[in-house]
Amino acid sequence: MPNVNPSIASQRANPAFHIGALVHGRTDVIHLEFGEPDFATPAHIVEAAQRSIRDERQGYGPGNGMLWLREAIAARVARVNRFSVKPDQIVVTAGGTGALMSSLLCLCEPGDDVLVPDPAWAGYDAMLANAGVRKVYYPLRPDNGWLPDLEALERVLTSRSRVLILNSPSNPGGGVFPRETIAQLMEFARKHDVWVLADECYDEFVYEGEHTSAALFDTDSRVLTVGTCSKAYAMTGWRVGWVAAPPALAPLLALATAAQVNNLPLFVQRAADAALRGPQDCVREMAAAYRSRRDLAMQLLRRHGIDEYEPHGAFYLLIRISQETTPCDSVAFAEALIRERAIAVSPGAAFGPGTAAYVRVSLASDPAALHAGIEGLLALSNGFVAS
Ligand code: PLP
Repeated sequence: MPNVNPSIASQRANPAFHIGALVHGRTDVIHLEFGEPDFATPAHIVEAAQRSIRDERQGYGPGNGMLWLREAIAARVARVNRFSVKPDQIVVTAGGTGALMSSLLCLCEPGDDVLVPDPAWAGYDAMLANAGVRKVYYPLRPDNGWLPDLEALERVLTSRSRVLILNSPSNPGGGVFPRETIAQLMEFARKHDVWVLADECYDEFVYEGEHTSAALFDTDSRVLTVGTCSKAYAMTGWRVGWVAAPPALAPLLALATAAQVNNLPLFVQRAADAALRGPQDCVREMAAAYRSRRDLAMQLLRRHGIDEYEPHGAFYLLIRISQETTPCDSVAFAEALIRERAIAVSPGAAFGPGTAAYVRVSLASDPAALHAGIEGLLALSNGFVAS
């Protein structure tokens, strides 16, 4: 057999997916492992897709998405992200995932370095491998609500650093980067001439402070902003996202996207259009529910004397399962939690070395499940020793 691409072949399965596979489809398990909203996609969105399937020909379409959807996304970017883009600067992609992948393919050459937060969403790993680039972590600080440490970022920069990934509100920490932090990160990007890939997939979920888009500080066309319908409209399986890019990059992103999916199905684009142009109460209601679950989780933790930090955005909570002095294997812990208590969480090791002693709980879960899950995990973490 001829050789395969070594950067793909050498990938190790992320521990989060290993845990996901262990409990997939199990109804006897409390599921707190994935960022999957427990709400149904709102009815008016589903109906728009059904109408399209019934009434419209589902043919090929433009690789950057239908113009009417790009107009709706541009209006949404103006409303939520508060910067202005033309529809030509928008490329519609297969979820935020497709947006990030196309962006990395356009921005990087194999062998480049990409600056990735530690901890970060586990999904970046496979994208970086596919793009043939190296992951260089920069730390987010737990004692500072998982916000970036700018001095440490300067220290990890290399001569091959090409892209800085920013993710605010962040997964898994739930940090919402303050305006001045975003301004400083943009200054860093200008000083060292790196692209900024701003993953703003959770921009509708901010409970304290306000969402600040990196593009607000973009003075020289170096920011690509990634968004998605997945989280805000409970549309994870529909696969609609976008990149808002500097004008010169949009045609390149369209090519990279077309090479992967050609175009998104028309009925899916109709659904996204209905989501973005339709009533937004559903988004506000889901955000309010996640916030009250965050409060419930924090109350429980405080009752157990745990008050490390409070997530201000997104819908995740990191819980420390061991003190730094004790070596801890979060994967072994997550496996034991399934075995002994029928509770699934994501092991901190899935997100980077900085969360090796943590697990991540998804707050996009039913409150009763959240309550029982957190109680169960705290009970097991008291005295857990990995064998
Ligand atoms: N970015 C972050 C930080 C995420 O957590 C996720 C999904 O969990 C995504 C991007 C991708 O979302 P999707 O591809 O479903 O739009």
